[in-house]
Amino acid sequence: MLTQTKHASLDALTFDNRFIRELPADPTVSNTRREVLGACYSTVMPTRVANPKTVAYSKEVADLLDLSTAACEADAFTQILSGNRLAEGMEPYATCYGGHQFGQWAGQLGDGRAINLGEVINSQGQRLALQLKGAGPTPYSRNADGLAVLRSSVREFLCSEAMHHLGVPTTRALSLTITGEQVVRDMFYNGNSKAEPGAVVCRVAPSFTRFGHFQLLSARGDIDNLRTLIDYTIRTDFPHLGAPSDAVYLTWFEEVCRTTAEMVVHWQRVGFVHGVMNTDNMSILGLTIDYGPYGWLENYDPEWTPNTTDAGERRYRYGNQPAMAFWNLGQLANALYPLIKQVEPLQKAMDLYTTTFVQGWQAMMAAKLGLKHFEPETDEALSTELLDILQLVETDMSVFFRRLALLDTHGIPASATTLLDAYYVPEQLSPNYTARLNAWLEQYKQRLQQDSTPDNVRRAAMNAVNPKYVLRNYLAQLAIDKAEQGDFSLIGELLDVLRQPYAEQPDKAEYAEKRPDWARQRAGCSMLSCSS
Ligand code: AMP
Ligand code: MG
Repeated sequence: MLTQTKHASLDALTFDNRFIRELPADPTVSNTRREVLGACYSTVMPTRVANPKTVAYSKEVADLLDLSTAACEADAFTQILSGNRLAEGMEPYATCYGGHQFGQWAGQLGDGRAINLGEVINSQGQRLALQLKGAGPTPYSRNADGLAVLRSSVREFLCSEAMHHLGVPTTRALSLTITGEQVVRDMFYNGNSKAEPGAVVCRVAPSFTRFGHFQLLSARGDIDNLRTLIDYTIRTDFPHLGAPSDAVYLTWFEEVCRTTAEMVVHWQRVGFVHGVMNTDNMSILGLTIDYGPYGWLENYDPEWTPNTTDAGERRYRYGNQPAMAFWNLGQLANALYPLIKQVEPLQKAMDLYTTTFVQGWQAMMAAKLGLKHFEPETDEALSTELLDILQLVETDMSVFFRRLALLDTHGIPASATTLLDAYYVPEQLSPNYTARLNAWLEQYKQRLQQDSTPDNVRRAAMNAVNPKYVLRNYLAQLAIDKAEQGDFSLIGELLDVLRQPYAEQPDKAEYAEKRPDWARQRAGCSMLSCSS
């Protein structure tokens, strides 16, 4: 049997730091907050911390990097991934980007609390950038501290990996380290500051380039560097498109539109609400990036957002995510316009977003319902009516679709009882509601009979796209509560359960249960903010 050699230490990784080698550097090297013009990055060292401890790591990401278990359990791993020392070949830097925040152009933002360590080339020849989040200030930290607290780091670590196992394109997380230092945060910006444990997450992705990287150069009229960054991105992140040219710029933007649409279809499928879809939080690779005040739909409610910072407009609510991704692509198109100089092909690429999203959404709905194909004549109405019904009473989205899979197409008549587990408030099941649901179930059954897929086959297919286990908001909070008391066991346990989100895992069924009542209004469970 072929056994792949693993590295016993981060020091043995092969780095090829192309971003800093090929893109323009900020000539200033002091770590002072400033506007950085004519450059894509600034070199900066992570800040040393007092007493770091690795509290979790992802063995799958370690595998991706060819790191052995011993490498992940060594003190060097903790020291390097907390920012206390550099591994051989690491060259730390923070990148310069801008963005639209909640619809307004915000100017320069940049990696204010992210420090890239370099790009690893793994044994498969894949390029994987490593980035520390929360390792101290950078020139882009503006008036903030460059640090991250444990609660938000637990959330980022767990959710990145959960999303990956759900099959959603995402940045990954290698490690979660506590720093042994305290960080002061005012969680809801209401004058209640408190000291919280500090932490650092090491994120991993082919690249961390965001829409905002292109936007900032374009907004500043720095067209030479805009072209340099686009050419670099095409050569590095999109090599299959061929050498950069005017035509390739367009096929590249088309691909960004397509992959962004595919990502959002996945979000809608699993009930993920990003919470802060600002253009600086949009990956050029169509990866879910920047896990902040995200949340998971519990009761199906398109109006819901977990982010209290967005409570007024609810711009980034679940039901608005597809439109917001489109709006963000429009901002990217504006940024590319000085190079492409024609509106029409950019518009056509944006149309591709719409068609990819609509087709993807239809295929996704068909799959969630266990249909072979989406037949617009019947299934448009079938889906719309179901999504309307789901909003009539508080219905847990994940439980509902798992229960729906149990439906017997030939035997006993379908009824709300099959689905009882999915309801938060059984008293809401009025005769009117039940009649409407039963009518839908009857229609659905007839539609299934048309397909004539055997029930067990349909059930397996539905269970492969409707997760049983998602990182429910209250579960993340329970793991955080324990972690803040020094007990990190629930992080490991959740990571383990979330590795197989579609499997039954009967001994873990408690983690598939709908939100308990105590979590309904608890901070961190249903309400989060950008403070992290
Ligand atoms: P976010 O809303 O988390 O995507 O962050 C928006 C911008 O604020 C980015 O430029 C971040 O780097 C920056 N930022 C957020 N939190 C901090 C922090 N604690 N210290 C420095 N910069 C931060
Ligand atoms: Mg961000």
